[in-house]
Amino acid sequence: MELRRGKILCTLGPASQDKATLKSLLAAGMNAVRINFSHGAHETHRATVAEVRALSRDAGVPITVLADLQGPKIRVGMLGDAGLALDNRDPLILCPEGTPRDEPHAVDIDHATLGAEVRVGDPVLMDDGALEATVVAVEDGRIHCTLLNAGVLHSRKGVNLPKTPLTLPSLTPKDEDDLRFALSLNVDMIALSFVRRAADVEQALEIMRTEGARVPIIAKIEKPQAVEHLDEIINSADGVMVARGDLGVEMGPEEVPIIQKTVIERCNARGKLVITATQMLDSMIRNPRPTRAEASDVANAVLDGSDALMLSGETAMGVDPPNVVATMDRIIRRMERGERLWQGPRDDMGFGHGPNAIARSAVECSSSLDGNAAIVVFTGSGGTARLISDYRPKVPIIAYTPDPKTYQSLSLYWGVIPRFLEISEDREDHIFEELDLAVQRDGFVPHGATVVMVMGFPIKARTSVNLIKLHRVSERLPAD
Ligand code: PEP
Repeated sequence: MELRRGKILCTLGPASQDKATLKSLLAAGMNAVRINFSHGAHETHRATVAEVRALSRDAGVPITVLADLQGPKIRVGMLGDAGLALDNRDPLILCPEGTPRDEPHAVDIDHATLGAEVRVGDPVLMDDGALEATVVAVEDGRIHCTLLNAGVLHSRKGVNLPKTPLTLPSLTPKDEDDLRFALSLNVDMIALSFVRRAADVEQALEIMRTEGARVPIIAKIEKPQAVEHLDEIINSADGVMVARGDLGVEMGPEEVPIIQKTVIERCNARGKLVITATQMLDSMIRNPRPTRAEASDVANAVLDGSDALMLSGETAMGVDPPNVVATMDRIIRRMERGERLWQGPRDDMGFGHGPNAIARSAVECSSSLDGNAAIVVFTGSGGTARLISDYRPKVPIIAYTPDPKTYQSLSLYWGVIPRFLEISEDREDHIFEELDLAVQRDGFVPHGATVVMVMGFPIKARTSVNLIKLHRVSERLPAD
C-alpha cells in the first residue's frame, strides 16, 4: 500500500495501553505514542513504555515514544466516581491545601497560593472550558465562585484562569522529577506544557545536559504568552505542538484556527516538527463515525502542513481506539492522493547552504524520476532525513540508521520511513551496495528503479551530509 506521509500520534490511556489494543493501533496506522504525565503513576508509564518497545521490536516497526510533562496545570482534587453535579448560578468554593473544605460545593485545588493571585471578577474555566465560573470573593485563602453554566465536575479536571497572573514556574518540581524519570525510560521525545518563553525550553535542556541525555523537545503552544513569543520558542525547541485544548480555553476557540495556521507556517518555514493536537476526532470517543466537521479538521491540518496529528481522548479513553486511528489514516491518505497537497516543490525555505542545499537538491532530483523513486538516506543522528522531510518530497524518504534512538524518533516526521541498518566497519566503504541490498530486501523499490541516495560520505569520516547519488537499484558498482 502507498506510504502515508502525515503521521499519527496516539495518546495512550486506560482504553489503549494493553498489549492487544496497542497491536491493533499499530496495525491501523499508529506511528507514535504519547505518554501523558498528567495522569498515571511512574510504574504504569514504565510498563506501558516496555509494552510499546516490545511491540515495536516484534513487529519490526518503529514507534516514537513522546513523554508529555504536565506543566503548571492547576487541577481540582478527587470528587468520587460520579463527580460533582453543578447547576447554573450554583456556588463553588476552591480550597487550597490547609483550608477547610466542609461545604458540599467545596473542592480541593492544587495551587497553594491561588487565593493571593485571583481577583474578584476573574474567569475560572474547568474541564477545557466545559464548566465556567467567575470569582465573587476570596476569604481565608479560599476562592468563592459562581457557576455560569450547569455540568458535572469530575476528579482531577484541569482549571484555567486566563485573566489571572499566576506565579507558577513553567517546569514544576513534579515536571523535573517526571523528566528525569522519562529520560531513564529512554523515551524518544519530551513535550513541555504551558511553555511561555524560550527560557522554559532552556530549563529542560539544562536538565537533559545534567542527565547526559538529549532528546528532541516539543514545546506545546497553549498560552497567550507562547503565541506572543512564538518565534523564540520555535527557534529554541526541536518542534512544537498546537495544543488546541488549552489554547482554546486560554484564548477563546475563535483564536485557534488562525494560530494553528500561523504556527504551522512558521515551523514549516524553519524546518521544525509541528504536531496539531486535540479534539481532531472528538466525537469518536463515543461514536463509530466522525462528524463531517471533524473529517474536515483532520484534512485541513494536513493541508496546513502538519508533520503529525495527535489523538487524545479518542485513543486514551474512547470506545474504539483502533477505529479512530483507521479513520484518521483514511482521511490523511485521501488528502495525500489529491493534488492540493502537491502544488509544486516548496520554495519558501530556499536552497540555503550546505546541508539545506543538498536536501533541497535531492528533493528536486527525486521529482524528475518516475513513480517508483525514493530518497534513500543513510543517517546517524537522523538530521539528514529530517532536513529532507522539511522540503516535503513527493517520494518516500527511506532513512537507514544504525542508531536505535534515531530509528524510533524518526517515525514522527512527515514522509520518513525509518529502517534499522547496522553496517560493520569493513563494509562502510561499500555503503552504496549495502543500501542497494537493503532497499531490495525491504521491498521499497523494484529492481531497476532509480533512487536518490543522500548521506555524509565517506561514512567512516562521520561527516555531515555532502553527497547525492542517482542510483539504479541493482546496478553493478565498480567499487564493489
Ligand atoms: C491540549 O491542551 O490541547 C493538549 C494537547 O494538552 P493536554 O492534552 O495535556 O491537556
